[in-house]
Formats: sequence, structure tokens, C-alpha cells
Amino acid sequence: MIRSGPGGRFAMTHQHPRSTPRPDRALVRLATALHPTPAQAASLAHLEAVAQACQSHMLAWYRHGGLADPASPLSAPSPRSRVTVPEISIDDLAGVCSAFFPGVSPSLVRGVASQVHRATSRYHGRTVPAETLQTGFQHVHVPLDAGIQATGPDRVWIDGLDTAVVADLWQLPMGLTGALVSAGQAFRHGTEREVSTMLRAASDGYRPALSDLDVTLRRYGALLGVDEPRVPGGPAVPARADHATLRRVTRPDGTPGWTVTWSVRIPHGWLPAANVADAVGVDVGLRRVLTAASGGGRWMVEGHPAIDLNLAFVSASTSALVRRSVFERQAAELDEVLKVVLAHEVVGVERTNWTRMSGRVDGRERVTRMMLTGATAVLDWVRALSPVSGSRVVEVSPTGSSCTCSACDQSGTVTEWQFTCGTCTHSDDADVNAARYMRRRALEEAGS
Ligand SMILES: [Zn+2]
Repeated sequence: MIRSGPGGRFAMTHQHPRSTPRPDRALVRLATALHPTPAQAASLAHLEAVAQACQSHMLAWYRHGGLADPASPLSAPSPRSRVTVPEISIDDLAGVCSAFFPGVSPSLVRGVASQVHRATSRYHGRTVPAETLQTGFQHVHVPLDAGIQATGPDRVWIDGLDTAVVADLWQLPMGLTGALVSAGQAFRHGTEREVSTMLRAASDGYRPALSDLDVTLRRYGALLGVDEPRVPGGPAVPARADHATLRRVTRPDGTPGWTVTWSVRIPHGWLPAANVADAVGVDVGLRRVLTAASGGGRWMVEGHPAIDLNLAFVSASTSALVRRSVFERQAAELDEVLKVVLAHEVVGVERTNWTRMSGRVDGRERVTRMMLTGATAVLDWVRALSPVSGSRVVEVSPTGSSCTCSACDQSGTVTEWQFTCGTCTHSDDADVNAARYMRRRALEEAGS
């Protein structure tokens, strides 16, 4: 396919993304930040430690060939011993762990069992040296799955914590927050039905129901009793899948934090397939949250000039409200531009190193402001949603993107947000020039 425009004619040389059949539903993974209080952060660290301990226990049990008593601490076998790795189901492996760690959230144990099962699957039923099964997990993604539920667009309930945690679920593009919130509501309604069944049984004089009720209310206390407006659901809208993991991260501004990665099922047709046989370059920034430029068009989302950073760091809840209100000013425009970007067959984005950018004092403030507007998340959204549209994302090195002429590839100068090339006299808005430069690099890579 050839498309003509002011950027010139070009032929797509990469394999056509639509040549492979698209599944009915695509599973995408999207991350949202958590903002725990110090006490909640300690609980999250505890969950991480429990997940790690479960992994070690399951691996130790495998190293004993599944012959040790799973309810007792497992010693290291002799390093030279060979073991036959038992072929057991994920649920049985979960049982190995819950025998040793009673009281741990069942979805956490099952999630860890599923991770360990997958990581060891090639040894199942085989006789291997015991040390083969010592491979630890360096980066623990704590599988919470059904053990984390949205109690609204800015709060989550986590199994094991008795208070809800502030979370930026609202900071997802194109209404995907709704998928998380409605799944949380369905889960809460199910739990409420269980609670009323137990209440009826208890009032009928069935004594065990009272202790069941106590256990349930302890676990789900932070989930129950929240009354959020109903979010539309149904087969044609994205829906949350069970899989969700908690992970310790370094935020774009260099501060430590926690994120949750959610799986969301996107129904066919929700996002149109990439149908523009052109490449688009995407530049994110502070003055302008997002600038996109193709061969024939340019799209921009202007930034919010007055963000009081001091106001944003009062408390976790206040800070979430400020971030949400700043983000909501741009949300509709971001959605529009994101749809335009994902309609292109090739998308060129910066390979951004936020940590390096925030290494300097002014850089850190810049990145913090970009986090408020969602600019730091734009590239994650593009990466997560491109498999749905069929767009190919090409990450290009950001070196020189702001001062290289997108027309002739020579260096130019930027004055008052205007780029001027001294070689070919090309002049353009600095962000548009940067986006076009990204498009040019992406085309080179897509063509090679
Ligand atoms: Zn030039």
C-alpha cells in the first residue's frame, strides 16, 4: 500500500499486521500505580515476602521429588542427588504451600503455584539433578489475581490488608478504568450475597456460620459497604481478567513505589484495526503532553500550565485527587489522539529512560509534572494497546530527537519552542519536528 502526502510517498515493506487472523478478544496488560500509607506499604512488603517464601517452599518440595512432608520446613537435599520431579496440578502444588503457610490468601498461593508450575514445567516427570530446581525468582511479581479488586476508580481492596489502598485506576486510557471498577463491583456483590447467606444461617442458630462470618468480614471488610455508581458492562466492553500482579518498582521520578499490572480482555472491534499505511511519531513532554506527527498530519494535547506540585503531595488521598483532576482535563483529548496514533501501522516512540532524566534536580521536577498529566504513561498505553489495533511499535533512541532536523537529518537549533535548521532552512514547531524525527527513525527500522 502506498500513501501520498506532504511527507512524501512510501511503501510499507514490513509484513502486514493483518495477515494473521485476529482473535475474538485480545488480552492486554496495563499498569496502575498504588499509593500505600507506610503501614500499608509494610503489608505489601509482607505479601511480597510471603510470595517469595511460598516459591522457595514449593521449589524445595520439588527438590525432594515431592516425597517430603509439605507441612514441615524442607531442608536442602544433598547437592548431588537426583530427583524425579512429580507431575502434579497447580492446585495440588498450591496445597503444598498452604499446608506450610496456613492463613495466606488462597489466590496468592494459587498464583505463586501457577508461576512455579510454569517455570518448572519442562522438568515435570523427568529425573534431574536437584539443584536444577533451585532457580529462584529474582523479581517477584506477587500474584494477587482475584485477591485485588477495585473499590472505585481511586481505591483497591487487597486480600490481607484491612484498609483500602489509594490507586490511580482512573489513569487508564479510553475508559478501561470501567473494566476494573465493574469487575470489583461484581466481586463485591458476590461477597455480599455470601455474607447475607451466612447471616441467615447464623440467625437460624447454625453456630459455625458465625465464625465463617467473622473470617469473611475480616478478609473483605475493606471491600464491603462501598457504594459506587454502576459502570456499564457487557460483552462489547473491555472486561477485567482474573490475572493481576503486584510489583515493587522505581517510578518515573526515581522514587520507589508499587504498581499493579492488570489483565483486561478487549473485545473484537472495540479498537479499530490499524488502517493507515503510514508511520506516526510520538513525542511526550511537559509543555505538551503528547505530540504526534505522520506524513500528512499532526495532533497535539496541550499540557496544563498551572500544577502546584506542593498541593499534590499533602497526603496519599489528596495527592490522588489532584492527579486525577489534572489528568481529567486532558483525558478526552488523550483518548482521541491515542486512537489516531493506533490507527497507524507503524508507531515510532522514544525509548525513554525516565530514571536518567530524573537524575537531575530540574529533570526530576519535570518528570514529576509529566507523571501528573499522564505523559509518562502514554508510551505504556501505546505499547499495551498496539497488539489490539495491530500497530507495530518501533522504539527509537531519543538521542538527538529534539535538535535534529526531521527533513534533512542535520542539527538545528530550538528557540522558543521553534525548531530551525541551518542546513536546509526547514522550520517547524519543536515538538512536531521531534515527532517527525521519531517517525523517520521508525520508518528506517520498519523498512530494514
Ligand atoms: Zn534540515
